Amino acid sequence: MSAPNRKSASTAANKPAAVNKTEDKLARLGLRSDMDLVLHLPLRYEDETQVVPMREAAFMGGQTVQVEGVVSACDVQFRPRRQLVVTISDDTGVVVLRFLNFYGSQTRQMAEGNRVRARGELRHGFLGAEMVHPTYKMVLEGAPLPDVLTPVYPSGEGLPQSYLRKAIASALARVDWRDTLAPALLAGLDLMPFEAAVRLLHNPPPETDESALADRSHPAWVRMKFDELLAQQLSLKRAQVARRAKGAAPLPLIGALSQAFQRQLPFQLTTAQQRVLQEIRTDLLANFPMQRLLQGDVGSGKTVVAALAAAQAIDSGFQAVLMAPTEILADQHFRKIAGWMEPLGVRVAWLTGSLKKKDKSEAQARIESGAAQLVIGTHALIQDAVQFARLGLVIVDEQHRFGVGQRLTLRNKGLATASALDPTVIVPHQLMMSATPIPRTLAMTYYADLEVSVIDQLPPGRTPIVTRVIDQSRRDEVVERVHAAALEGRQVYWVCPLIEESETLQLQTATDTHAALSAALPDLRVGLVHGRLKQLDKQAVMDAFTRAEVDVLVATTVIEVGVDVPNASLMVIEHAERFGLSQLHQLRGRVGRGSAASVCLLLYQSPLGQIARERLRTMRETTDGFEIARRDLQIRGPGEFLGARQSGQAMLRFADLETDQWLVERARSVALDLLRDDPATVELHLARWLGAREEFLKV
Ligand code: ADP
Ligand code: MG
Repeated sequence: MSAPNRKSASTAANKPAAVNKTEDKLARLGLRSDMDLVLHLPLRYEDETQVVPMREAAFMGGQTVQVEGVVSACDVQFRPRRQLVVTISDDTGVVVLRFLNFYGSQTRQMAEGNRVRARGELRHGFLGAEMVHPTYKMVLEGAPLPDVLTPVYPSGEGLPQSYLRKAIASALARVDWRDTLAPALLAGLDLMPFEAAVRLLHNPPPETDESALADRSHPAWVRMKFDELLAQQLSLKRAQVARRAKGAAPLPLIGALSQAFQRQLPFQLTTAQQRVLQEIRTDLLANFPMQRLLQGDVGSGKTVVAALAAAQAIDSGFQAVLMAPTEILADQHFRKIAGWMEPLGVRVAWLTGSLKKKDKSEAQARIESGAAQLVIGTHALIQDAVQFARLGLVIVDEQHRFGVGQRLTLRNKGLATASALDPTVIVPHQLMMSATPIPRTLAMTYYADLEVSVIDQLPPGRTPIVTRVIDQSRRDEVVERVHAAALEGRQVYWVCPLIEESETLQLQTATDTHAALSAALPDLRVGLVHGRLKQLDKQAVMDAFTRAEVDVLVATTVIEVGVDVPNASLMVIEHAERFGLSQLHQLRGRVGRGSAASVCLLLYQSPLGQIARERLRTMRETTDGFEIARRDLQIRGPGEFLGARQSGQAMLRFADLETDQWLVERARSVALDLLRDDPATVELHLARWLGAREEFLKV
């Protein structure tokens, strides 16, 4: 903590204990250095530059104004409740101040004849113009008015504005004002100089456009946001450099397995799949770890691309691991990929939490000895004491379902050093997959150091899904429709309502729905799958559905991700209003996978709230995952959209990723230039803006 704060608080100088407490409070706000204080910018401003004559104030009901006058009466009243009532007057009129909570000292302050400057919202009371709980101070006649707007700072409990203002004012006098951007750059980007921008924000002169300050579109704010985004981009790039300094085993061989695998696929890769495969293949050749996010809408065919990446690792003599968030999905991957690869001689292991102890230790032994070349499983891969013999590639499906920590743990299971002579740490390459597309700006700013590949094309022959939004009261008609569809040989998913508060209730609902539909559709085979079923039972139901031995599959959200049964072409989602947009999109993605025209019926309970209505409308209007993500972002804002706080977000205080997208792009390009040409400026800028914040980026 810097001594200067101490100086700035005159009372605190004599009371070290109090100083420390206040310093703690400052530290809790992240204010440790002078520059931290200088960059602690106002939330809003109060205009104390004017005093309104009381006669005019009488016509300004509802507005916040400042008046100044001499106390002509000061009484404690007891009706309707205890309160201090002070009448002040100037040459033109009278205003009454009411304080519902007050100290004894205030009655003495407000002695008749004393002068008060009060600021608050005016209203018309019984006695004329009055203010309830105004802010006020005692002044002497002729005391000068401030000539700038008064800043109001974000503050913590017990940290008075007056203290913050003083601490900031004294920091402003001491800090290193060097501009980190050269004048030519400022001119090119049309940005304000740093010092002028900061000073204006702390002390805006009265002629400043107040609405531009409030909505942060003022050039001074733009400069702050730019600097903040620049710091973020610089540190993301630095994290990337640090990654590249780590070693990875190059996986150079696209050999016999890769070729045989691709030849025996029952379909041609789409152009988009070929392109992303090429990007991944190139990354895997490098001797630093790949960190790539493979995005592609539901059904775009990410699995086969991942399997081809795994083939490259295996061809090169390494192991690959694929982790999925649910057993159903892991199981499906296992069958599909093992079905492709085992005939080609690849040894595949399977590891999930529900394995019997004996099978589990057997699988672990095969993984540790290197006998298993490809490992597929769930979280169990992280939790158990599995170590890999030669792990070259980690693939995480539906990566947004995993925490950063979980992904790191898996990656670290492949940690090794190059050799005793060359102690470079070797980490596996990493491929993450997600059908929840992240708009480009978010990907650039939220994820530390990530390359992104996009499959922007669906395999040919898909027919678009038609989505209908239907009132829950018409459920009987929907059941009829399910009946008719099943008689035509189509298979149906019936998704039970989400009950977030209680898993037990949710289970109950699923069981009830199953019973009700079985009764209503006696000539159909109705199955049930939910999260509490034993793995073997889950598999048995899913298998039966895959083999078309079940017509209607009643399911909870366990089928949300990944499940791939191409013959299913009708989906009903009950209480669709309870689901989030990306969840609905994922669920709907279970149909429309075959050549039959698919339909998704979203049942809702009226009345619908605003957000639910927008979500359902979006679902009806589009099936494009990127468009849905964009609207989801609009409806919910970036923080909510990404769920857990991601690394890059924690750094941003001023910039708003929705309204300031244009600045992100510019900051990114300036960051690249600076890193190439001007390391000293990079250091200065990062030191100024990050301070302790950079730790958020070590992901
Ligand atoms: P997702 O990207 O949602 O994970 P999947 O990998 O499950 O999608 O693929 C969806 C379905 O499309 C699977 O049945 C898969 O075998 C099939 N598929 C993948 N690529 C192609 C292709 N190029 N042509 C035809 N079908 C494909
Ligand atoms: Mg998938």
